[in-house]
Amino acid sequence: MFDKILIANRGEIALRVIRACREMGIQSVAVHSTADADAMHVRMADEAICIGPPPSTESYLNVASIIAACEVTGAQAIHPGYGFLSENANFVQIIQDHDLTFIGPTAEHIRVMGDKITAKDTMKALGVPCVPGSDGGVPDLASAKRIGEEIGYPVIIKATAGGGGRGMKVAQTAADMESAFMTARAEGKSNFGNDEVYIEKYLTTPRHIEIQVFGDGKGNAVHLGERDCSLQRRHQKVFEEAPGPAISAEERAAIGKTCADAVAKIDYIGAGTIEFLYENGEFYFIEMNTRLQVEHPVTEAIFGVDLVREQIRVAEGLPMSFTQDDLTINGHAIEVRINAERLPNFAPCPGRITQYHAPGGLGVRMDSALYDGYSIPPFYDSLIGKLIVHGRDRPEALARLNRALGELIVDGVDTTVPLFHALLEEEAVQAGSYNIHWLEHWLETNL
Ligand code: ADP
Repeated sequence: MFDKILIANRGEIALRVIRACREMGIQSVAVHSTADADAMHVRMADEAICIGPPPSTESYLNVASIIAACEVTGAQAIHPGYGFLSENANFVQIIQDHDLTFIGPTAEHIRVMGDKITAKDTMKALGVPCVPGSDGGVPDLASAKRIGEEIGYPVIIKATAGGGGRGMKVAQTAADMESAFMTARAEGKSNFGNDEVYIEKYLTTPRHIEIQVFGDGKGNAVHLGERDCSLQRRHQKVFEEAPGPAISAEERAAIGKTCADAVAKIDYIGAGTIEFLYENGEFYFIEMNTRLQVEHPVTEAIFGVDLVREQIRVAEGLPMSFTQDDLTINGHAIEVRINAERLPNFAPCPGRITQYHAPGGLGVRMDSALYDGYSIPPFYDSLIGKLIVHGRDRPEALARLNRALGELIVDGVDTTVPLFHALLEEEAVQAGSYNIHWLEHWLETNL
């Protein structure tokens, strides 16, 4: 059993992990950059260690400093949160080489799923349905053009190492292929150090549906249904919900079982998310994330489980605390991502919080590292809070979201809260009848 866990992250997700540790009687160690000396995760953890200067490459991505912090504090395990080092196979290997435990999957699973071509091949072999496209990497423009004709336009060119919505370019017609192919390659190279790309059919009206899976590393795995994350801006999620308003119980059970069986077969350990596009009743795999996701609380709300606690348990070698039959859906949950950004361009808006008041009441959860007087540093991403609401059904969750957004006060910086007030007025949002392109169109005409 672990006595002490180090959290290699910051912000709300660091708080999320500290809270789970505290409930389990485990000591927590925060790490922080010099810019984060006054951050909430530093205040809330049992111990805190400075690991470097503000740029994340020198602090939150500084593997040597993080390992040293474990040695200094006697932490036996590392929780990576999401982002930063959470999907870095080399980091996992180094942790193991130091006889520490990584709270997450194996280096091998991260490596396989981190390369989108290998991930797709693996999933295909495990019986998971995939988006039609090139068979692996596309070496040159001539092959790209030939494949474009074969699958039929529009197509999307994706960097195999891509992530966070970067390294993807759409070619509407053959005439766009050259620039899309070259740009996706260049973005792959400059952002991820890998210029390999592949091609997929570009789906024009899909929803983004992702299945939460969880494994014990010993061949047992379950699914915790889906999340619908179709409201996206620049391929980035802004509003997520569970269950998905367009998914039937039969579809959930079938795709859920396919996913749970697939990860059971590879002895997957911990939390994972298998992402699909869903169009005309069909699921098409796009990628797997081998970590806890930003939007995991909506799943926790409807199933009444603590996914971080489960991650820690299986990392200790314990069994999962639930079986598939224990997992039943209760009500409906919605999360909105509150970013310190100025509309209409979503320009990052760091600065000092002059007043912060979190909403409360029945069915409301606010995961945020803000406090009165806190200064949001300009060095990291702009997510400052997640508001999660839970109701008996979707209309109740929507009404609760509206009410909770009205209670929330974040003064001193601009935030994305006005976007959610406006979205809640929209018929498509009230009906849950949108696809992944809806928000982009809405933003063009409404902001
Ligand atoms: P990333 O790793 O950068 O998040 P993903 O492969 O998960 O990239 O795709 C992110 C988003 O991009 C999807 O949720 C969807 O909105 C869009 N997308 C990806 N592949 C396709 C496709 N084949 N057709 C249409 N949209 C796609």
